[in-house]
Amino acid sequence: MTPGLLIVVSGPAGVGKGSIVRKMMDYDENIVLSVSATSRPPRATEAEGVNYFFKTREQFEAMIKNDELLEWVEYCGNYYGTPKEWVCREVEKGKVVVLEIEVDGASNIRRLFPDCVLCFVIPPDFKELENRLRGRGTETDDSVKARLTRAIEEFKLIDKYDYLIMNDTIENAADSFFSIIRSERMRTSRNQLMIDNFKNLNRSE
Ligand code: 5GP
Repeated sequence: MTPGLLIVVSGPAGVGKGSIVRKMMDYDENIVLSVSATSRPPRATEAEGVNYFFKTREQFEAMIKNDELLEWVEYCGNYYGTPKEWVCREVEKGKVVVLEIEVDGASNIRRLFPDCVLCFVIPPDFKELENRLRGRGTETDDSVKARLTRAIEEFKLIDKYDYLIMNDTIENAADSFFSIIRSERMRTSRNQLMIDNFKNLNRSE
């Protein structure tokens, strides 16, 4: 069986991580996206269990206490966290599990799973990021400013990541992302079982 793989994708809010991941998931049914829990209220376009599991702060704190999260952070005043059981089960099944999470969560995941792959999505330039954030029409002016300030902090951590994905167009970025996943799945270190089978082949059989 092909071994599972944990892929983290980070990048500033508005850079298009969600669109890239959704496009790329069409290429291979073994790629699945983890749905996080958050205490942020849903946007008009978002649905429970599709974009997030929406929780009150109290419900989220109960999840932390019950050890239901692989990692969690407070970001721009709200909690966000990755559900532990679902992610571990899908990786064990051999799936490529994508976590769309911010930089602190990414470094926590790397600590827990040293062989995970960390990808960072960058916009063509900073102005374009601001245009995309304002253009999506879901954020207040304060929220846009908070996310841009946070983006500048996140850029400082880019070199902790394994790969950069430039989002000039969704198609190009999804292709780059898919190439990374294909290559990572073929790493010898991830395929020891198959390698052992080849090593143990007996020519006379
Ligand atoms: P948004 O409110 O725009 O949906 O998300 C804000 C930020 O939180 C984004 O950078 C998103 O990737 C990140 N995020 C979403 N879910 C999680 C999570 O489970 N853990 C962490 N650490 N970050 C998350």
